[in-house]
Amino acid sequence: MREHRLGDDIDDFCVRCKRVMNHSVVSVIDSQPAKLRCRTCQSDHDFRHEQAPPPKVDPRKQALFNDVLKTVDPTAVIEPAGVETPAAAATKPKAKSKARK
Ligand SMILES: [Zn+2]
Repeated sequence: MREHRLGDDIDDFCVRCKRVMNHSVVSVIDSQPAKLRCRTCQSDHDFRHEQAPPPKVDPRKQALFNDVLKTVDPTAVIEPAGVETPAAAATKPKAKSKARK
């Protein structure tokens, strides 16, 4: 197993950058990196072995997302402009039939 020292460059998953980035080792335990500093956003975090943290599912956000999904109806048909709908036709005044003597 490769030994690491303070200041070594190492790839790891950065939670802020949300991807594997270049890091500097800022803490070493038993020759293994314990804490790293992202060289892009300068945030410190524990060594993650390049593993992304499990996605956190917020039940409230999940509910909101489902609500949005419900409003998006792929079968919904958008009526082209200028087309008379039956409802619009019904509101037209009807020609009054005048009865003549
Ligand atoms: Zn970062």
